[in-house]
Amino acid sequence: MNRYDLHCHTTHSDGTSSPEEVLQKAKESELAGLSITDHDTISAYETALPLAKNLGLKLISGVEFSAVFAGTSVHILGYSFDLKSEAIRNLCEKHKTRRISRYRAMIELLTKHGIPITEEEVLALGPKGSIGRPHLATVLMQKGFVEDVTQAFHKYLGEGMSCYVPSEVITVQETIDAIHAGNGFAVIAHPHLMKNENVLRELLKMNFDGVEAYYARLGTQQEQRWVNIGKKKGWLITGGSDYHGSIKPNNNLGSSWVREETFQILYSRFQAFAVGFCVLCGYINRL
Ligand code: AMP
Ligand code: ZN
Ligand code: FE
Ligand code: FE
Repeated sequence: MNRYDLHCHTTHSDGTSSPEEVLQKAKESELAGLSITDHDTISAYETALPLAKNLGLKLISGVEFSAVFAGTSVHILGYSFDLKSEAIRNLCEKHKTRRISRYRAMIELLTKHGIPITEEEVLALGPKGSIGRPHLATVLMQKGFVEDVTQAFHKYLGEGMSCYVPSEVITVQETIDAIHAGNGFAVIAHPHLMKNENVLRELLKMNFDGVEAYYARLGTQQEQRWVNIGKKKGWLITGGSDYHGSIKPNNNLGSSWVREETFQILYSRFQAFAVGFCVLCGYINRL
């Protein structure tokens, strides 16, 4: 049976495997295809698209956008959008600016708390796209201030902790609108992680196209709740491992996946807008 992992990260956000390594791993894990869903960036696709083609893997566009709803952090997956979409590219750019001011503010706060780290040390990690808290956590670990990344979040970087800086708000609606403008599908990521049921209820009323029901090591009973909700709404029911490489060692690539019929819906949409000659902008995309 063909399996497709629709949620994974590379070194273009906070994953530790390069796009090349992720694709190689996908091949070794006998996945038929995947979507790379880096946080707030699509920069991995430039190398990933031609490489996937060479490896005989089906790759569709993907991204995991950070958003805020009623003061709560929400992750939204976008799939099958046109990689050249202005709306998507503009939103990624907005996130890039937001992330830079945020990590600088957090470095300042960490330094004030007697655990000095510098921007140079963060950049020395060689981040390719989005810089986030896991990068700061890695530097804290390297300098011996914490034992591991999890401890860095528990002590300093997690929501409400001493060196946490809330993000500039980019709304859920703005995010859905950008994904739709790019002809993509907007999917609520890992809804089981949302603890506030009121927020969840409101979110489920919004114009999403899908819900991520299959996730990493989530039990069948938990998955079923989201499958039922997705079915009732006539939404896509998606899934993936949320692979991050060694920084989240329990999320193995291919540990969660969707079947051919779901992937085909996403793949057809991606091809409809990505293949061939576009009469509007006149470019020929390579798949
Ligand atoms: P950011 O995008 O900068 O807000 O960082 C959020 C990312 O940090 C999430 O997508 C996770 O990959 C990671 N993360 C969040 N909480 C933790 C935690 N408690 N331990 C380890 N990693 C975490
Ligand atoms: Zn992440
Ligand atoms: Fe997420
Ligand atoms: Fe993720």
